[in-house]
Amino acid sequence: MNPLTESQIRRSFVNCSRGEAAGATLPAGFHDVLWDDLDFLGWRDAKAPLRGYVVLWREDRPVGIALRAADTTMSARTSAMCLLCESTQSGAEVSLFTARRAGEAGRNGNTVGQYVCADLACSRRVRSDIPPWLRDRDPGEVVPARVAELRRRLDTFVGHVLRP
Ligand SMILES: [Zn+2]
Repeated sequence: MNPLTESQIRRSFVNCSRGEAAGATLPAGFHDVLWDDLDFLGWRDAKAPLRGYVVLWREDRPVGIALRAADTTMSARTSAMCLLCESTQSGAEVSLFTARRAGEAGRNGNTVGQYVCADLACSRRVRSDIPPWLRDRDPGEVVPARVAELRRRLDTFVGHVLRP
């Protein structure tokens, strides 16, 4: 993805107040982010552990979504699937995130929920955590296909948040 500056990120949020956007803690190591390996910047707020953020480029403009993780986690003994990158992990590593919808819908309390990797590192997982049944295939085909699927699912999710 194209790089984002701190001010672009803070101005990008579509579903939280200016105060919340200003108060968001940027990811650790923000200045060393390898943008080429990301489809979106996703991170948890180090100072507000239930908060998470997803920022991506959509039609040449940065769109940021503030998320809130459920305060209960699934059991580490069960497995769960992230609905963005479709990696299967232990239940404790997948979280139900809720995003307030943008605009009036959000002000009326409407939210969109999605099960996503708790660390919001789906971009890394689609590139490096190739499931066993795909490992004998050409990585030059598998990875781009997984990246395209992630981007498509993310776009659908963001579309639900933005839908008026
Ligand atoms: Zn994921």
